[in-house]
Amino acid sequence: MAESESREIRLQGISGSPGICIGKAYIVDREGVDIIKRYSISENLVQHEINRFKGAVKKAKDAHSKIIEALNEDLSSQLNILETHLALFKDKMLYGRTIETIENDRVNAEWALRKISRQVKAMFKKVDDPYLQSRVSDIIQVSEQVMRFLVGAEDVRISDINKRVILVAHDLSPADASQIQLERIKGFVTDRGGRDSHTGIIAKSLHIPAVLGIGNATTCVNNDDILIVDGSTGIIIINPDEDTLFKYEERKLRYEEYKAFLARESHRPAVTRDGRQFALMANIELVEEIVSVKDNAADGVGLFRTEFLYLNLKRFPSEEELFERYKEVAELMTPNCVTIRTLDINGDKVLPYSVSAEEANPALGLRAVRFCLKRTDLFITQIKAILRAAAFGRVKLLIPMVSCLEEILEVKKIISKAVLELEEEEKIFNKNIPLGIMIEVPSAVIMAEELGKEADFFSIGTNDLIQYSLAIDRRNRQVAHLYQPLNPAVLRMIESVMTAAKKNGVHVAICGEMAGDPVNIPVLMGLGLKEFSMNSGAIPVIKQVIRQLDSRDTRSMVKKILTKHSVAEITELVEEKYRDILPVKENEENHKIAELQVRHHGV
Ligand code: PEP
Ligand code: MG
Repeated sequence: MAESESREIRLQGISGSPGICIGKAYIVDREGVDIIKRYSISENLVQHEINRFKGAVKKAKDAHSKIIEALNEDLSSQLNILETHLALFKDKMLYGRTIETIENDRVNAEWALRKISRQVKAMFKKVDDPYLQSRVSDIIQVSEQVMRFLVGAEDVRISDINKRVILVAHDLSPADASQIQLERIKGFVTDRGGRDSHTGIIAKSLHIPAVLGIGNATTCVNNDDILIVDGSTGIIIINPDEDTLFKYEERKLRYEEYKAFLARESHRPAVTRDGRQFALMANIELVEEIVSVKDNAADGVGLFRTEFLYLNLKRFPSEEELFERYKEVAELMTPNCVTIRTLDINGDKVLPYSVSAEEANPALGLRAVRFCLKRTDLFITQIKAILRAAAFGRVKLLIPMVSCLEEILEVKKIISKAVLELEEEEKIFNKNIPLGIMIEVPSAVIMAEELGKEADFFSIGTNDLIQYSLAIDRRNRQVAHLYQPLNPAVLRMIESVMTAAKKNGVHVAICGEMAGDPVNIPVLMGLGLKEFSMNSGAIPVIKQVIRQLDSRDTRSMVKKILTKHSVAEITELVEEKYRDILPVKENEENHKIAELQVRHHGV
């Protein structure tokens, strides 16, 4: 390959968390490839071993073909290289000789492949013909691709990574993502993942750029490749050219300037032009996030997802351990409020030490309050810890995934039992705290009036409400395009919750990711919401939007919106009406959010 030839590859994914980072790639799933064990194969298993090798070659080849298919037309220089690689999968030197080695040495396929690729390397070591050198590196890369399928992707412990890198993984579970050390990991990219998956939520809370759902990042990116991750547009660039690198360094700088400007402004309250004040709360997963909650001037914590305290342990935490953490948050946030949600595990957040029976549809299974009502021992521990923490600050209790009235009545019985136990144990606690219900299942929307008689407040969880009502797995990138908060069905559901809540005088907040996207704010305001909870990084920009709105205007606009039947019509209406208020929509050609806003505000 000529020196001047571009090696730049651009891949489009889904924006997981905004911002730009530039650095070296670190592939999480490929680590196991380096540790290959040798073992002998008896004669009758030789064919089985050869088939295993052939199977891995087929899978690697199929994956490779998919990359070629997905390649943009204007990237023909890469097409040549990739097509050369495709032919190499069945190359005699690699394919034929690995099979011979399995037969002759009676060894496992991994060992045979490793042996052959090392021989190839050694053979060409002394040759200094650039063409032959590059052919060796092609063969080695192809053999590594096969090896990955042979050994199966093995996970590394993310917390053990000790270099400043960008993670590239097939998938990152919320547990993986919560191990990310901010001083080491600049950002991350995954093959899987859809909008508002928990992995993306964590990336947002860590304030690191992330792109999800790339599909083939782990196959296209090699360790130590230079990567640009543009979390705002959902684009990654592998081995960028100098010009691209320069352009993105500039964009990164401007974006950071803009964020700094918003953060400075954020300490002013969120009051509309017609003088109405809104509460902007933060969603947190870890106690450590309180620093960012304060930096972004949140009015309190609207959602504390407590399951992340459980994910990094090897056992269930004790009442004392939970109490200490909750108390810390309550005290740090005083005089502001902290809404502590009880454990929402299963679904996509599974505790390794609490493996229940396998579920075909975990999102519809023993998740959240359903799990807690089954394991009342664990539930009462949480409630007691929360009631005790409530003696040290303004605490509210929130129950996730309530789907029927019976559940909340059951919860109330457990709360009464927790109160009795705490009294007997003579512990300091506060039993007079507001009890809230997450509205995130369609049945809860329909029953909101009845549920409202049992609850002090509602918190609308649009992440799950969209998932369950539109039947879209929030982690599935194949259906991510259908995951639309401004879907008329979603808006009508929110409207109906607001009406039901009004009848019972129940306060309503919204804590799904929807509340952190500027375009949704005029709509939510028009629907009557007065409290928005979001990842704390979004607070400054949302405050800026609220300050430019007139709530009376938003109400009349929503009346019009509720007569519309499609997302496109609704989005167009909002974007048209609020064109001057909403930040510029980001995309590859028009990546001007920072530039425009900074210029507009004279930074
Ligand atoms: C929601 O479903 O909108 C929500 C806030 O809860 P989670 O994202 O933790 O499921
Ligand atoms: Mg939820």
